[in-house]
Amino acid sequence: MTHAVDQHSAPVPPVRLPLRPELADETPYGAPQLDVPVLLNVNENPYPPGEDVVATIAEEVARAARGMNRYPDRDATVLRQDLADYLTLETGVDLDHCDVWAANGSNEVMLHVLQAFGGPGRTALSFAPTYSMYPEYARDTHTAWVVGRREADFTLDPDHAARTIREVRPSVILLASPNNPTGTALPAATVEAVCAAALEVDIDGAHPVVVVDEAYAEFRRPGTPSAVALLERYPNLAVTRTMSKAFAAAGARLGYLVASNDFVDALRIVRLPYHLSAITQAAAGAALRHRESLMAQVATLRAERDATVRWLRQQRRPDGTPFDVAESDANFVLFGTFADRHAVWQGLLDRGVLIRETGPDGWLRVSIGTPAEMATFREALVEVLRNQQQDEQQDEHGEARA
Ligand SMILES: *Cc1c(COP(=O)(O)O)cnc(C)c1O
Repeated sequence: MTHAVDQHSAPVPPVRLPLRPELADETPYGAPQLDVPVLLNVNENPYPPGEDVVATIAEEVARAARGMNRYPDRDATVLRQDLADYLTLETGVDLDHCDVWAANGSNEVMLHVLQAFGGPGRTALSFAPTYSMYPEYARDTHTAWVVGRREADFTLDPDHAARTIREVRPSVILLASPNNPTGTALPAATVEAVCAAALEVDIDGAHPVVVVDEAYAEFRRPGTPSAVALLERYPNLAVTRTMSKAFAAAGARLGYLVASNDFVDALRIVRLPYHLSAITQAAAGAALRHRESLMAQVATLRAERDATVRWLRQQRRPDGTPFDVAESDANFVLFGTFADRHAVWQGLLDRGVLIRETGPDGWLRVSIGTPAEMATFREALVEVLRNQQQDEQQDEHGEARA
């Protein structure tokens, strides 16, 4: 800041800001955004939208811009109907805009859920390892945060889930399926067991809500169910989706939720007025109209994912043992474990490939890119592990000589 008048140029003494004490040691969410040739770290779709998609978005955004002196449709009714129609097509479940909520990414949708159903004196429950943002929504809404556990293969034991729900008595239960960072999808029976256990818990005369986060639903393997099919039977169930992954629109920031009308109405109470800009509504609606060409790329990514799982299963760690590779119904694969996963991550980065150091100790997560990007990843990984093995052998010889 520059000050024109001299007496104002005296140094301003430092002032402590009244940050909430529980935020004092927190750092903002931060997957590294590095300028690297091969970006396989945040589960983005590697294919930019085609020129036909870009043209439709530009047209619709121009139309929205012409009316930008006015606030947007507060309830995004047209977009919510488009999303309902898309989900009806994908799942066969009859839906309309009253059953759908939309916001700036499914992250904001889930914050709305915690704002409406969490809060002081209440608890949100999930099962780890799972999405790292969930505890942040809880923290930001003064909701207590409790995690149960997933099994060694990252599945969820329905008995453990039901027992934990009865013990913890949460008002919100978050289940990611397919789960991030593991890729694990939940069978319908497990989701049903969770919904049934929730209906046994009484929170001031109400029942906990169950949110199944299906950010990666479009990548699931054939035969893997969507929890959307269970909505009719469980009025306390909601399913969230996003355009960030399958729709190649992470930059547009559009996530949505499907649930009962009452559930959606509760979220409308806590949203900020005009939370979804006219530009976002226009861009998302335009992208949805190109559903088919975007989904064609999802099939390519699924095939590449399956090939990556097969290839990783053939690889060996420096000590000669095979990798552990988690089953994946998403657009990423969790693999490991490495005694020094940071060294593997760094070795890949040195070769221009950015993946993610996340999940339980020793595991790494790679997002599925284009075939060329995956080839670069495979070559780099082979080289990193070969170098590590040579270093270890040299160390052994060194020790033998000493
Ligand atoms: C990527 C992701 C989302 C999507 O977040 P947006 O805010 O919609 O971009 C939601 N849940 C999980 C588990 C994810 O990995």
